[in-house]
Amino acid sequence: MRSGNAILSGYGTTIFEAMSRLAGAHNAINLGQGFPDDRGAEDVLQVAARALLEGNNQYPPMMGLPALRQAVAAHAARFYGLEVDWEREVMVTSGATEALAACLFGLIEPGDEVVLFQPLYDSYVPIIRRAGGIPRFVRLQPPGWTVDPDELAAAFSPRTKLVVLNNPLNPAAKVWSVEELRLLADQVIAHDCLAVCDEVYEHLVFDGRRHVPLMTLPGMRERTLRIGSAGKTFSLTGWKVGYVTAAPDLLQPVAKAHQYLTFSTPPNLQAAVAYGLAKDDAYFGLLAAALEAKRDRLAAGLVSAGLPVLPSEGTYFVVADITGARGLRPGEDDADFCRRLTTDAGVAAIPVSAFYEEGAPTHLIRFCFSKQDAILDSAVMRLKEFFGR
Ligand code: PMP
Ligand code: GLN
Repeated sequence: MRSGNAILSGYGTTIFEAMSRLAGAHNAINLGQGFPDDRGAEDVLQVAARALLEGNNQYPPMMGLPALRQAVAAHAARFYGLEVDWEREVMVTSGATEALAACLFGLIEPGDEVVLFQPLYDSYVPIIRRAGGIPRFVRLQPPGWTVDPDELAAAFSPRTKLVVLNNPLNPAAKVWSVEELRLLADQVIAHDCLAVCDEVYEHLVFDGRRHVPLMTLPGMRERTLRIGSAGKTFSLTGWKVGYVTAAPDLLQPVAKAHQYLTFSTPPNLQAAVAYGLAKDDAYFGLLAAALEAKRDRLAAGLVSAGLPVLPSEGTYFVVADITGARGLRPGEDDADFCRRLTTDAGVAAIPVSAFYEEGAPTHLIRFCFSKQDAILDSAVMRLKEFFGR
């Protein structure tokens, strides 16, 4: 019998690809998949172009270019006061997606339990299951996406190997408070387990908030693997350059997975990201400020079109509640509604139910606001027309 692996074959095409294809086929404005529609950081592009033409294009070292590993360590010291040994504690990966897979494949033994928060990014659970892990879910309650301490405690057991935390959180646009991080750290320490932290949106936090890596909490430095990505930090999502920072005894097993998954990442892109991570503080501040203004623009537009929005504290995203939306058909869920919005209103969004393995809400949809203002305005006009506003 020639059939695929049962776990992976059980999943369809990712919602991001599916909605982008639908948007393309219907000429819809794509506020679904999360990516900016500008060229990205121009000086970073220039460094990459020069490195491509003038630099080395053969295999770089498996752990990443020293220049990028040094830059990741320096960035951690500058923004979070973390002391990182670049030679023993930093590894470059092909995007955060590979970093996550390498962490999960490198750390999980079959039968290990993994604590996860729903809603969650779509790549986590398939990889955990494929690695033989058993997911244990904790639900975050909208609209504040709060965590119930009792439910959190109940998800941990003597078999817990690790917890996966996405902060800031896609699609909920939640930035975890220090109190919530403490609650989580207490459980991780009490159960002597690990934390894999997906922090790809670390610089996209709004309204004067500060991103606090779980790794900086007392007792967590030696238990945490922190993942970042150039895609979000330099508005270059197609580049797929990620990095993992962790204590040497945690990074080593992850490197064992990385060496068989991808082994290395294009050297010219690595050189450019090393340059980018050293940019002055103003770059990072302006990036967040520009996105904050776009969040406000789209959120106000959605409200004026009759779609109330949930708070957006960070990321590229704002979630809208479709419960009272004009024209919502009886029994229509978020996925059907998003498809109809794409084909009939000409605006693509992502159903939040796609971020759940079980017990998904069906009244929330996610819009991406990292687009030119004129595009956001056109999308709002189309929605207003569709809703007869
Ligand atoms: N984690 C989260 C929460 C994401 O939203 C994304 C999407 N970009 C990724 C990981 C993947 O990042 P990368 O493109 O660097 O693989
Ligand atoms: N992270 C992006 C999002 O949430 C999608 C990345 C992808 O398409 N795999 O929209």
